[in-house]
Amino acid sequence: MGTGINDSTLHSRKAAKRIMSYLVLARKYRPQTFEDVISQQHVTTTLKNAIAASRVAHAILFAGPRGTGKTTLARILAKALNCEKGPTDTPCNTCASCTDITSGHAADVFEIDGASNNSVDQIRDLRETVKYAPTRSPNKIYIIDEVHMLSIAAFNALLKTLEEPPPHVLFFFATTEPHKIPITILSRCQRHDLRRVDITTLAAHLMNICAAEKREVAPEAIELVAREAGGSVRDSLSLLDQLLSATPGPVTHDHAAELLGVMDRKQIFDAAAALIRGDAPLLLDSIAALHAGGHDFRAFHADLIAHFRHLLVAKMAPDRPDLIDTPAHEHQALQEQAAAVSGPWLAAIVDLLIAETSRVRFSASPRFAMETLFLKLLQKPRAESVSGLIKRLDKMMAGDGPAPDKPVQSPQPNWQTPPPKLPEQYAAAPPQSVPPHPASRPAPAQTPSQEPPPAEYPQRMPAPSPPYSESVPMPTQGPPLPPAPPSLPKDAPPEAIWNAVRQQLSNAHPALAACLGKCTLKKMANQSIELEITGTRFDLSRIQDDKQQALIKAALTPYIGEPITLTVIGKTGTQDTRIQKKRQEDQMRQEAEHHPIVQKALRELGGRILNITVFKPKENEV
Ligand SMILES: [Zn+2]
Repeated sequence: MGTGINDSTLHSRKAAKRIMSYLVLARKYRPQTFEDVISQQHVTTTLKNAIAASRVAHAILFAGPRGTGKTTLARILAKALNCEKGPTDTPCNTCASCTDITSGHAADVFEIDGASNNSVDQIRDLRETVKYAPTRSPNKIYIIDEVHMLSIAAFNALLKTLEEPPPHVLFFFATTEPHKIPITILSRCQRHDLRRVDITTLAAHLMNICAAEKREVAPEAIELVAREAGGSVRDSLSLLDQLLSATPGPVTHDHAAELLGVMDRKQIFDAAAALIRGDAPLLLDSIAALHAGGHDFRAFHADLIAHFRHLLVAKMAPDRPDLIDTPAHEHQALQEQAAAVSGPWLAAIVDLLIAETSRVRFSASPRFAMETLFLKLLQKPRAESVSGLIKRLDKMMAGDGPAPDKPVQSPQPNWQTPPPKLPEQYAAAPPQSVPPHPASRPAPAQTPSQEPPPAEYPQRMPAPSPPYSESVPMPTQGPPLPPAPPSLPKDAPPEAIWNAVRQQLSNAHPALAACLGKCTLKKMANQSIELEITGTRFDLSRIQDDKQQALIKAALTPYIGEPITLTVIGKTGTQDTRIQKKRQEDQMRQEAEHHPIVQKALRELGGRILNITVFKPKENEV
């Protein structure tokens, strides 16, 4: 090295060069082939097929959310058509044409920003250049980004060229708002809609980039970045860039949460769990914690809506995790949380959360708005399923007293971070903090613990049981039925035994007895009993319940001994069909009543309907 340049100057020049040559991740990892574009296979496959068949349209519109690959796809398509080895669906990325397009210096590929070149004069200039043949490549390609920003006059100026462009000219448009493009333009374009990238795919993509960058980033941090990006690859890479530059060593979940200013997922799950349990103190506490952490309540509110929407979907379509855009490890926790409540209750919560959006958003004190909203949500009555009600009724009749309700312990995914510490006054909140309901029984003696307060909520708002699932946990203690001494001789006829058993059960378990009333004894030989039930599917499922079977067997044991095999055959359907038929008839009556001709007759003749008879169709009629 020459004189006059000392080591530190050299060092700083090298550093400056390093900074100058630093490429942001979004540019460094911009896809260069169709295969690199994630989550848009429906578009890339179509384009590749079009190239292979030489059927690429001369005007193509890429529509979709920001950062999903619209301009990227336009560039790859330009390369594919202008590649020296092309047209090919796998551009070489090494020839002069490909590298020029990558660097943005291609002589025949024009990238135009629609937002800043939106006037009619600019489009007229463009129209002039279109006439000339390409200089170096087979095609002259115009990529217009944010094309919806063009003025109406500009669009009109473009119309003619777009309809019949010279043979070597192609237009690729990209837009986030296709609805703002005039229909006359849309109808001249082949349209491809790009999808938002789901969190799991995006997280996997980011993970690969971190590996390529040789950076250690916790999966939870990646997940947070992917979630925050809202389905945009570019946004996710910008956030990741920011995160990697801000943290020199390994990046943890806390780093990401702090930098992105987002809430821990656990806080959302905790708040939802508290709401499901009906735990007002814990809910208010979660808000206090958010306030202390300086979190944005509007974001919290939006996250909460998303969470309850996910719960509702998990409840209504448990086999469709693809409908819930959350990482896989949260699915199980969502399922379990959803199992603890009823679908209608979840729907009501989502409704109210959405209805109150503007209040939270525009309130001068979002904290108080959020608190009152929570208290309102707590007022929503929990719908209990019929089977849950009957089970509780049975328990009461059997003298078990109120159900030994454990508060619904809401399931949570495995979080890396420790749960936030609760302030002392809430950690062991005594049940008195909620005014006791007049009908409530005295609460059992409390032992202070970290567990949420059992309070009197079980009586006031019974632990909700899911109407759509049979996962209600039943107490495992055996039935409290003392075997009555058999008052019949050993060789009594089966019917007599069965009647005695029914009689005995009817005193202690009226609901079960009602079910048994629909049963006919088909067979009783040795210790094998076969019953046939004529009722709804509900009756069948109820009598097939383990606990009910145990009750019946226990009542039978003194007469026929153990072990007993009890089989119940459903003759279901009759009841269901009857109900269905009744509904059909009701509907027909209503239709007849509201029929225009009938209505007209009523009006003009001044009559009234006395009776509507539904005629049964004859055998050969349909
Ligand atoms: Zn090439």
